[in-house]
Amino acid sequence: MNLDSSVLELNGVKKYFPVHGGIFLGRKEDVRAVDGVSLVIRKGETLGLVGESGCGKSTLGRCIAGLYKLTDGTIKLHGEDISRLKSGELKALRLRMQMIFQDPFESLNSRHTVEEILQEKYIIHKLPQKKDGIDEISALLQKVGLPENARGKFPHEFSGGQRQRIGIARAISLDPEIIICDEPVSALDVSVQSQILNLLLALQKEMGLTCLLISHDLSVVRHLSDHIAVMYLGKIVETGRAESIYENPLHPYTQALISAIPIPDPEVKRNRIILKGDIPSPRNPPPGCRFHTRCPHAMDICRKQEPILGEFPGKYPGIKSDEDEKHEAHMAACHLLFNLHVDKKRKYI
Ligand code: SF4
Repeated sequence: MNLDSSVLELNGVKKYFPVHGGIFLGRKEDVRAVDGVSLVIRKGETLGLVGESGCGKSTLGRCIAGLYKLTDGTIKLHGEDISRLKSGELKALRLRMQMIFQDPFESLNSRHTVEEILQEKYIIHKLPQKKDGIDEISALLQKVGLPENARGKFPHEFSGGQRQRIGIARAISLDPEIIICDEPVSALDVSVQSQILNLLLALQKEMGLTCLLISHDLSVVRHLSDHIAVMYLGKIVETGRAESIYENPLHPYTQALISAIPIPDPEVKRNRIILKGDIPSPRNPPPGCRFHTRCPHAMDICRKQEPILGEFPGKYPGIKSDEDEKHEAHMAACHLLFNLHVDKKRKYI
């Protein structure tokens, strides 16, 4: 992989949470929340990480932000290994990497005014708050669509959508190299969700932000993401360019997720794929393909052998080199796809 343009590179990232039990409260088993994830995010790109609740996507976001220690694997930021930093180094990392949380109320200090919340950067870096005669806090408030008089108010005086705007203002105020948005609109009213998504899209374009956008809702990530990674029970099952994933989902799990996206046209009907059962426990993931307990196409091999991510043909505009090609590739982990593609030499979907 060409590291020059990659901001973030994950290699075999694992995060297991030990479960203790028995008479001596020894380690009984592990909850394998994230189980060997490799991903790359390039500068100025947004990667949408999607999957059902409990698939490990938020845990992965927290591992990247340094909130959880890794069980195994590496995370590199601009080629620098940030997987096992000491507490002092972690503090510096958090300035380079900001998170926008699902519930901004919990992440904002309720005893600080908006102005105090947004002053963090100027206090930490001892920077002047005025640049070319322009007050930076006022400029930030304007950028996220908050009125000037918001600066003297406390978080509880705002609506959910406005609080998320404060969270976004705080994240961008620190000029981070990457922003991790963890379900940024799922706690908001539907009417407000689109406003916040439009704001994120506008800022992303204006500032060339590099983002990891975590969501259970594929319709949320659709318009913001350049690439999509679909996660199931701690593993990535499909990755590719957003348009490729939406137009030609390969993995049966992605097909089911996409079939659940509502179409805003009463005349158009989509055949909804209903998945049976719940996502299995990450304490005891099924052998072979982890999706086999719910997959309508499961075969014998799926119960025994774990499929690996493989590349499927497809060229996309703007590809410049082999490295670009690899980055743009549409990958999926499914025995059925390999059988159809390799054995029968015919279209696999
Ligand atoms: Fe379904 Fe088998 Fe493919 Fe898994 S490997 S998604 S069980 S067909």
